[in-house]
Amino acid sequence: MSERLRELAAAFNGSFAAMTPLERLAAMAEHVPGPVVFTTSLGIEDQMITHLIFSNDLPITVKTLDTGRLFPETYALWRETEEKYGRRIRAMYPRGEALEELVNDQGIDGFYYAPEFRKNCCGVRKVEPLGRALAGAAGWITGLRRDQSANRADMDFVGFDGARGLVKANPIFDWSRDAIAHFTKANGVPVNALHAKNFLSIGCAPCTRALRPGEPERAGRWWWEEETKRECGLHVDDAGRPVRADNHRPAEGDAAFERLPQ
Ligand code: SF4
Repeated sequence: MSERLRELAAAFNGSFAAMTPLERLAAMAEHVPGPVVFTTSLGIEDQMITHLIFSNDLPITVKTLDTGRLFPETYALWRETEEKYGRRIRAMYPRGEALEELVNDQGIDGFYYAPEFRKNCCGVRKVEPLGRALAGAAGWITGLRRDQSANRADMDFVGFDGARGLVKANPIFDWSRDAIAHFTKANGVPVNALHAKNFLSIGCAPCTRALRPGEPERAGRWWWEEETKRECGLHVDDAGRPVRADNHRPAEGDAAFERLPQ
């Protein structure tokens, strides 16, 4: 099965460039021999994909990872999206016992104190639930874009995720943020209200800040960490190593930075 999926990923990777995002999603749904899951963070890229899946009734399950630390605006968008399309976005939650152990051990906001604490939190709240979200799937859709960071420029439209044993496809990989914003506006796709307040990449509330002028779009994520230690944890290379986010360290003086132990 793995070899078949690897070959399918290679074939898709060669053909995706000439296809529209909808055609790419439809091809995944039709040709991947098993369940296909789209994991959404409810960011603008993911909202475009959700729109294409729900509006065209594609047999792709849409799931989100509710870490318990999302912005109120994100929960409002989740509800608005379900109401608009009449479809459920399935929630994945952290394991209760693991979450209790994490918070009791390192504190409610332990992620600010050390990179390993942050990775522990992402591990319990995101990575482990993602594993369950993708269990049994043969295909995984994500909203990654090539121009989101230097690191992502090296990725492909479609790859074989050797660690999880599935075809991983990025159907809007070649789309710019501006083109996606135009699409969502033209098609009445609901988007997170925080995007209009300079939050371009939106994750958990305590770990996301608005961008300052001139910063790259993912600079507001885990901004207190050294650049070399920021790892998303959800996206891994073929050997299972986390793909590093490529952000810029902000200037000291940021309000949230100041409250950290120095
Ligand atoms: S982004 Fe922050 S709050 Fe969310 S899981 Fe990671 S460390 Fe925890």
